[in-house]
Amino acid sequence: MLVPGKILLDHAFANHYAVGAFNANNMEQVQAIIDAAAETQSPVFIQVSRGALKYSRMTYLRNIILAAAEEHPEIPVAMHLDHGNGLEIVKTAIDLGFTSVMIDGSLDETGKIPLSFEENLAVTKAVVDYAHPFGVSVEAELGTLGGIEDEVGSGQIHVTDPEQAVEFVKQAAVDSLAVAIGTSHGAFKFKEKCVLAHDVLEEIHRRILDMPLVMHGSSSVPDDLVALVNQYGGKMPNTKGVEIAQIQQAIPHGVAKVNVDTDGRIAITGAIRQFFAEHPEKFDPREYLAPARDALKNVVQLRMQQFGAAGNAPKIHQLTLNESKKFYDR
Ligand SMILES: [Zn+2]
Repeated sequence: MLVPGKILLDHAFANHYAVGAFNANNMEQVQAIIDAAAETQSPVFIQVSRGALKYSRMTYLRNIILAAAEEHPEIPVAMHLDHGNGLEIVKTAIDLGFTSVMIDGSLDETGKIPLSFEENLAVTKAVVDYAHPFGVSVEAELGTLGGIEDEVGSGQIHVTDPEQAVEFVKQAAVDSLAVAIGTSHGAFKFKEKCVLAHDVLEEIHRRILDMPLVMHGSSSVPDDLVALVNQYGGKMPNTKGVEIAQIQQAIPHGVAKVNVDTDGRIAITGAIRQFFAEHPEKFDPREYLAPARDALKNVVQLRMQQFGAAGNAPKIHQLTLNESKKFYDR
């Protein structure tokens, strides 16, 4: 069942686990994510980047996600816009029926140049004012992540300033805040060891105690998944992700949503490469997309368990628009 993102964030926050947020670009990915959620009884964010929206010609992906939510009425699903870069794309997503949007005002509309605190605040407030009357939740971002994915990212890390976080959420009635604590988009997050700024996260949480926090760029890029890609002709040397233990250390400090995209991409690629290597004579797309779907499902399930979301799908009845709106009365 499709639900406002805020329901999932607040439930996770109150129960000290994190909802997994997984990116999708096509039917097999959406099926893998919803199957993983159904099998583990987990709430889930299925998220769509601007690039994915465009790739799916705006409406295809939305309809596939609606099909998933319909197939599993017992699983609360938030359909989320990942890294919205302005009010226009947010309006488009809300028109399409998204129940949660991210406005990434940490970067300008090209996704490359950092915006000032004031500029970020202004665009975020405009999005909140627009989205909440539709019952749609808003995630903002303060500070910038490393790495570049789907052409989003300045390539530099600016760890979130706790002082600014306090000021930001005081002025913008967001439902969650993505913080930069050293994570990074993509498969090459760290040169050496993964070290997150847990002290910064803990201070942010202490100072904005009621705000669900979000970790982006939190794929773990497991060696075994990368090894499979490389074993079957891939070339991904020196990958490095965020260790699960580091994420698990962060979750008790207000982290209610953890974004994972890269792990799924690698799992899919490994499965398809393996299939082609072992069955060079095959050419039916279903034959290689089905194992790719299974590989993604396995990763998603594992993450749901590791983030504590498994078994935590809250029981929710179908909400009216008025009920959805009420979530945002402060
Ligand atoms: Zn992100």
